Amino acid sequence: MFDYIIVGAGFAGSVMAERIARKCDKKVLIIERRNHIGGNCYDCKDENGILIHKYGPHLFHTSDKEVFSYLSDFTQWDEYHHKVLAFIDGKKVPIPFNFNTLYELFPHSLAERLEQKLLGRYGYNTKVPILELKQEDDEDLKFLAEFIYEKIFKNYTAKQWGMKPEEIDAAVTARVPVYIGRDDRYFTDRYQALPKSGYTKLFENMLQHPNIKLMLNTDFKEVLHFDKEGKKIHLFNQEFRGKLIFTGMIDELFDFEYGELPYRSLDLKFETKDVEQFQEAATVNYPNDYDFTRITEFKHIHPVKSKRTTILKEYPQPYRVGQNTPYYPIFTEENQKKYQKYFIYAKQFENLVLLGRLAEYRYYDMDDIVKRALEVFEEVFS
Ligand code: FAD
Ligand code: UDP
Repeated sequence: MFDYIIVGAGFAGSVMAERIARKCDKKVLIIERRNHIGGNCYDCKDENGILIHKYGPHLFHTSDKEVFSYLSDFTQWDEYHHKVLAFIDGKKVPIPFNFNTLYELFPHSLAERLEQKLLGRYGYNTKVPILELKQEDDEDLKFLAEFIYEKIFKNYTAKQWGMKPEEIDAAVTARVPVYIGRDDRYFTDRYQALPKSGYTKLFENMLQHPNIKLMLNTDFKEVLHFDKEGKKIHLFNQEFRGKLIFTGMIDELFDFEYGELPYRSLDLKFETKDVEQFQEAATVNYPNDYDFTRITEFKHIHPVKSKRTTILKEYPQPYRVGQNTPYYPIFTEENQKKYQKYFIYAKQFENLVLLGRLAEYRYYDMDDIVKRALEVFEEVFS
C-alpha cells in the first residue's frame, strides 16, 4: 500500500514526504505521535488571537538560497530580523555582544579603548566565539572576555545545559559570538523571514498531496515492529519492504539498548498580560536572574492589534523519558560515542534512514534540517 513510511511530521519528515510524493509519485504514510503536524515548529493562535509558537520561539534564518527557494514554494514571507536584549547589571542591552553593548555597559573612554583593541586584533565586521576571546593574552581583552563570559554565558549556560561553557561542544556557545561591529540583530544570514500565515500553514501546504497519508496521535510502536534478529521491519505484522525514514529518538527506536541518550527539555510557561506591550524586544535573555533563560513576546514576532499580550518563559530542565519533551541533544564527546553505537546498530537495517534533530542527535536549526532532508532525498533516489 505504501512505498515509504515516515515517522515524525516535523521538517525532516515533511520535506521527505513532500519530495517523495511529488517528485517520485510514490505513496507515503506519515506516523506522528502528536495531534498535529510541524514538529517543534508548530504554531497556532491563542485565546487572544496572537500567533504563538507552542514549542518555543522559532525564527527562520538561512544563508542557503536553495533552502529559502524550496520553502518559498509553500509560503509567502514576512521579512523579520530578530532582536534580542540581555538583562545585564540592571540594563537591557543588545545580544550578541557588539560595540553598542560595549558602549552601553562601560564608561565611554574604556569602551573606546576596548573597541580599538578589538578592531586591531580581529578587524571590523568579524565574529569571535567567547571561548576564543577568552584565550587572549592582552590585559584589556582578557578583562573584556572575562566580563562577557561571566555576565552573559556562564550562568545562562548553567541554566540551559546544566554545564559550564567549556564542558559542552564549543559550537554551542559559538552560535552567539561576540560581534566586532554594530549589527544588533541576533542572526546575520542573508534570508531572514517568517512564513506569512505561520509555520503550520507552511506544513499543511507541503503535505497537501493525494500520495501522502497522515496518521496523527500514533506512536510508531503501535504500528511498527522491529525484528532485531532478522533485521526486518513490520507494519501491522506484515513485513515492510519499502524504506522507513525515522525522525524520532534513535535510542527509543532501539528500546534504549545502549542506555538513554541525554537531552535537555524545557518547561514552557505561557502567560497573558493585560497590557498592549510587555517588553522592548521580541526576546529578552536573563543570564543571571530568575530560573528561566528568556522571555519571548509573540506580538513583536507576529504584530497584531490586541489589548493583551502573550509572553513565554523558558525553564530548562533535564529530559525524562515519558515525562517531558526532548528538545536539545546534549553535545558532549561521551554522548556522541553513545550515539555512534546506535548509529552502527541502525546500519544493519537496510531499509532504515535516520534523519532529523532527534534521529541524528544533532543541534540542527530549521534551515539545516531542510537542507539535510533535501540532500538525503537526493542520496536515497540517486
Ligand atoms: P522535530 O520538529 O522535533 O520533529 C520530530 C517529530 O517526530 C515530532 O513531531 C515528534 O512528535 C515526532 N515523533 C517523535 N517520536 C515519535 C514516535 N515515537 N512516534 C511518532 N512520532 C514521533 N530553529 C531555527 O532555525 N530557528 C529558531 O529560532 C529555532 N528555535 C528553536 C527553539 C526551541 C525551543 C527548539 C527546541 C528548537 C528551535 N529550533 C530553531 C530548531 C527546530 O525546532 C528544529 O530544527 C526542527 O524542529 C527540527 O525538525 P525535525 O523534523 O528534525 O524534528
Ligand atoms: N548563550 C548564553 N547566553 C545568552 C545566549 C546564549 O550563554 O544570552 C549560550 C547558551 O549556551 C546557549 C547557546 O549560547 O545554549 C546558544 O544560544 P541560542 O540562542 O542559539 O540557543 P537556542 O535558541 O537554540 O536555544
